[in-house]
Amino acid sequence: MSVNATEVLADLAAGRLPDAHGRFGPFGGRYVPETLIPALERLEAGVREHLHAPSFQEELSAQLTSWVGRPTALTFAARLSAEWGARIWLKREDLAHTGAHKINNALGQALLARRLGARRIVAETGAGQHGVASAAACARLGLPCIVYMGAIDMERQAPNVGRMRLLGAQVVPVTAGDRTLRAAIDEALRDWVSDPLGTYYLLGSAVGPHPYPYLVRELQAVIGREARAQFLKLAGELPEAVMACVGGGSNAIGMFHPFVGDASVEIIGVEAGGKGSELGGNAATLSYGQPGVLHGTYSMLLQDRDGQIQETHSVSAGLDYPGVGPEHALLGRIGRVRYESASDREALDAVRALCRSEGILPALESAHALAGAKRWAAAHPGGTLLVCLSGRGDKDMPTLQQTLPAEST
Ligand SMILES: *Cc1c(COP(=O)(O)O)cnc(C)c1O
Repeated sequence: MSVNATEVLADLAAGRLPDAHGRFGPFGGRYVPETLIPALERLEAGVREHLHAPSFQEELSAQLTSWVGRPTALTFAARLSAEWGARIWLKREDLAHTGAHKINNALGQALLARRLGARRIVAETGAGQHGVASAAACARLGLPCIVYMGAIDMERQAPNVGRMRLLGAQVVPVTAGDRTLRAAIDEALRDWVSDPLGTYYLLGSAVGPHPYPYLVRELQAVIGREARAQFLKLAGELPEAVMACVGGGSNAIGMFHPFVGDASVEIIGVEAGGKGSELGGNAATLSYGQPGVLHGTYSMLLQDRDGQIQETHSVSAGLDYPGVGPEHALLGRIGRVRYESASDREALDAVRALCRSEGILPALESAHALAGAKRWAAAHPGGTLLVCLSGRGDKDMPTLQQTLPAEST
């Protein structure tokens, strides 16, 4: 399908995307078994009724302030700017409760679930960060939380399993399929279908069937709204470029959404380039992928010639996903956002650079955006750049100690 950039931008500005079918141009929609349709339709009606209602927004905003710690800071990275040659500001989602942007979505959906009368929450998790955010939000609101997690991931991410359990969640090992995130999503969906009225499925990124990509974008757009206002106040103008890392795409779409209508602002998403462009060596969906259906949505994905989902690799577990949100697929297709990738090596170097220059240990995911920032700075000396620092890197210490030279850890 051909897509007209001017029309898409006008539709986005007018709030007409996703359309009534949950589509972002050719992408998005609802590719799920019949049994899931009534649950998704009920959720869509609930989103329409509550999400932008003043009473819901007041409740959400009070919790974001008093419990999550919003607004998060906007930090001018003076020493990093001097080192890399552009003026770099960081939106500090690493300062949000539980250490990353994921809490914005988990809290918002848990509040929505309570409004919709759900008695229990199910969630899926890969690296465990979304599971921890969901467990924390559910504890705060007094909702039982069941987290499906691949058996392999439970071994790899044992500290997060402990955190989820301490926060009162039940962590269910998934031994079917690939025993990682993909199988965990299938299991969470199966649970939801068996009790669509009493259970709420709390999805962790801007992916999945309609209305999730829309719902998650609306809940994460607080990042970009705050950052845009803070930047205007501190710098007196808009940034020349805005940058974020892209896994499923939730921190990125949250950061980008309020800037899409600002024609002067260049927008750049940075994916996980892993070890390189070869099949299975990366998780750079928009750089190397093809259109296709994964987890209920039509978007770009990494697949082989036979349409089989590819293995992916990234040093950062949170970017290690073969799909990407449908809105990113559209923004990439019309050229409004440029997607590039940063390698494992570049991300690791960026972690060290930020630690040493600013006293901030970034998540390995966020370090991909920083690696993109370094490249942008080299091409735009003196330019102004806003980077979403999606999370903190304490969780990555085991990986960092294995991969960075001994003298630096
Ligand atoms: C999960 C995670 C990501 C990737 O998820 P998106 O949905 O693409 O934002 C990025 N950064 C951090 C810190 C994460 O925990």
